[in-house]
Amino acid sequence: MEIFELFFDQIYGVIKTFSIIDLLDIAVIAYVTYVLIKLVRETRAGQLVKGILLLTVFYFFAVQFNLKTTGFLLRNIFQIGILALIVLFQPEIRRALEKAGRAKMADLNIFNTDNDPAMQKATWEQCIEELCKATRTLSKDKTGTLIVIERKTRLGEQIDTGIILNATVSAELLLNIFFKNTPLHDGAVIIRNGQLLAAACFLPKPQREELIATNFGSRHRAAIGISEVSDAITVVVSEETGTISVTESGQIIRNFTPETLQSFLQAKLIPEPDEKKKATKVARKFAFWRAKKK
Ligand code: ATP
Ligand code: MG
Repeated sequence: MEIFELFFDQIYGVIKTFSIIDLLDIAVIAYVTYVLIKLVRETRAGQLVKGILLLTVFYFFAVQFNLKTTGFLLRNIFQIGILALIVLFQPEIRRALEKAGRAKMADLNIFNTDNDPAMQKATWEQCIEELCKATRTLSKDKTGTLIVIERKTRLGEQIDTGIILNATVSAELLLNIFFKNTPLHDGAVIIRNGQLLAAACFLPKPQREELIATNFGSRHRAAIGISEVSDAITVVVSEETGTISVTESGQIIRNFTPETLQSFLQAKLIPEPDEKKKATKVARKFAFWRAKKK
């Protein structure tokens, strides 16, 4: 009974001194917990959390029933466990931090060079058009293709493994590169700022390879791999089926047509603030007109 009285006394004490800062504190902790749960659900840490919960329950009973040695052992496991967790989940922690860093950069213009934004936009439009034109033929001819479009995360590490071309993107060039048995057909092409920067690049494997469907071979896996460690968008054409797929943020989306690919890439790579503003203006006018009619 004493425990309960103490417990309620403590709660009363907390309520009495509750301030707006505490509310903020709770909001921050709630958000961090939400992000952690989301992270755990998306990674292999899910099983581990169940194990930790079980150990916590054991520890609670060990303390309640005064099991000194068990309590001592569990306490030490928890202490060493934190270090072990950091080592074991280093890739996940790293990815989460990289993601957080990218989020902050999200407001920045994607065209991170000094060039004129209008020119950059034209370069991207041309690049996307030529890329989609190429995928039509590549898909029809079932030519294995791997095209990585770099965004904010710099892919210098992967570019170093390939051959630098620094060329304007054209359908003919892409067809030539991926044509079977040519020197550059093996590996990935990397596009930066709408320019074809390098070919025959080697991409990293996915981090959770065991979770990827077995019908995806090494080309599709490499596309998933690079999308896990960067914000790049990768276009894959299957040599076996001619299917056009896209990977982004560790996910693969299948069955694109050259047309759907074009609209997808345009939406992702070309921000159109003026067009958007125009669209919202039209929507507002339409709503006003409908309200008037009523
Ligand atoms: P497909 O449907 O086209 O057969 P797949 O996913 O089954 O694709 P594979 O048949 O194993 O993949 O394709 C092998 C080719 O994928 C290699 O010849 C190479 O060009 C490319 N590739 C495989 N792994 C990588 C990698 N890590 N980085 C870059 N390119 C790779
Ligand atoms: Mg294959």
